[in-house]
Amino acid sequence: MSVCSLVDIAPAIAELIGVPLPGADGVVRPELADLMHRCSRVVLIIVDSLGYSTYQRLKPSMPSVSVKGTLIRCEAVSDHTTPAIASILSGCYPATHRTFTTADVLTSSIKSVLERAEECGVKAAVVIEADGAAAMKTKIKLSEGVPDSRDIIAYDAAIKEHAIDLLKHEPTLMALHFRAIDRYAHEGRSFDDLAFAAESIDQHIAEICGHTLADSCIIVCGDHPFHGKLIEDDHDVALIIFRAGDVCG
Ligand SMILES: [Zn+2]
Repeated sequence: MSVCSLVDIAPAIAELIGVPLPGADGVVRPELADLMHRCSRVVLIIVDSLGYSTYQRLKPSMPSVSVKGTLIRCEAVSDHTTPAIASILSGCYPATHRTFTTADVLTSSIKSVLERAEECGVKAAVVIEADGAAAMKTKIKLSEGVPDSRDIIAYDAAIKEHAIDLLKHEPTLMALHFRAIDRYAHEGRSFDDLAFAAESIDQHIAEICGHTLADSCIIVCGDHPFHGKLIEDDHDVALIIFRAGDVCG
């Protein structure tokens, strides 16, 4: 049983950083609020294809995240990346936000928690794929994009570098997206390759953590369950929460 849905993440963040999120389908779950209560800023790390069962299998390769983080089983809202990420960031189901392609980001009338923060004068930052970042640029000042690459390990490393760079501005909310596990899944790679991708993402998270203030809440979540034969029956996604000061420092 899932105790929460991906649409509940944005409402929890909005409450923590004190910005309104009208029209969200998700609700503030006490389970999430309790885990975040000692924090005053958030780094939201979306790990593509980090389904619940996938995380269970890859956990040994993700020590930085798994040792101190609390794992919550979270209901997925879509099998596709763009609508799922829009749901994570807006707190709305795909039927509500209707963002199915990157181009829809520009026209959607539903605002993400990042935009709501920016409107309230709360500093927000985003690091995603270049086309998505270009679409966000008009809405979020601190946005950096990484061009899509055949070398997805290098791509994720570039995402991490930009994230560390933008953290110098001390944003109250930052969102970023790692893609290596998903790419390897689509390439039909071996489990060892998936574990390698997970390990590299875990190291990026540890490094990002080392550049955040201690009162940052690190939220790691999948966007949709795993596609592919290697991990079957993956229905929900993993949501892992910890306070940066409890892991790093
Ligand atoms: Zn995805």
